[in-house]
Amino acid sequence: MQAPVTKPVFRFAPSPNGRLHLGHAYSALLNDDFARRLGGRLLLRIEDIDITRCRPAFEAAIDDDLAWLGLSWEEPVRRQSEHFAEYGAAFARLKGRGVVYPCFCSRKEIADAISHGEAGSGRSWPRDPDGAPLYPGTCRALSAGEAEGRMAEGRPHAWRIDMEAARRLLPGPHSYRRFDREGREETVPADPWRWGDAVIRRKDVPTSYHLSVVLDDALQGVTHVVRGQDLEAATDLHVLLQALLGLPTPLYHHHGLILDPEGDKLAKSRQSEALGDLRERGVTAAEIRQRLGFPAQPTPST
Ligand code: GLU
Repeated sequence: MQAPVTKPVFRFAPSPNGRLHLGHAYSALLNDDFARRLGGRLLLRIEDIDITRCRPAFEAAIDDDLAWLGLSWEEPVRRQSEHFAEYGAAFARLKGRGVVYPCFCSRKEIADAISHGEAGSGRSWPRDPDGAPLYPGTCRALSAGEAEGRMAEGRPHAWRIDMEAARRLLPGPHSYRRFDREGREETVPADPWRWGDAVIRRKDVPTSYHLSVVLDDALQGVTHVVRGQDLEAATDLHVLLQALLGLPTPLYHHHGLILDPEGDKLAKSRQSEALGDLRERGVTAAEIRQRLGFPAQPTPST
């Protein structure tokens, strides 16, 4: 009997907290280009766990922009805000493995502990790959009874990964495979520990980007993740979460970012020119596609 042929699965996963810009267009078109070349499927996932910043109008604009660019994707679209129960179940698995702990610290308490530590040691505090100071571990030291007491009082809390505990369970070395446009694949070492005790379940929403993304990629059968270099370092943490949750690790391709004329990363928050604005000014989808290095019209799938 012949083994079933599994098609590669790609996904574009924007957050509807602003309008898409050229950087998103590049990422979406690159996913589509890979999927066409490898005879794969393309999924769209709406990453809207941030319920205060995400808006249905932005989601509608994402659909319009992507369709305008000539992209199509499979239905139904997975919307993360509809899956909090699944993230809760994955979180419970991490809890069962003893690799998370509740953290009651406010931002100010964390900042104070860090300045105190810096003043005491005369050295600058270690930072994660995004440049944020590592969590000083205050709540890791709480006894189980103390933590439970605070939770019973209803004190707001996030949950952090306990990197020391995770390292005891899965010392590594950890790695993942990356692929490029020439069809090459290679192994990349992953260093999850440099993220420190990162937040895995936020105070305001019962999940985090990291937890949702690894679970969704697995549940949706994503085999190839194509996303910007700004998320390359986060992959190290994702690989650890996949191992802790017993999920497969997809192949990864982290693409260069599209920069504005000043050499800065395009950002929704900095009012980078939105695709919708370009469209209104009469720029055509074919022009955008070519400007980003893709054929003016989508090529037929292989
Ligand atoms: N939702 C993330 C973003 O808009 C992308 C997540 C991913 O591709 O893993 O930046």
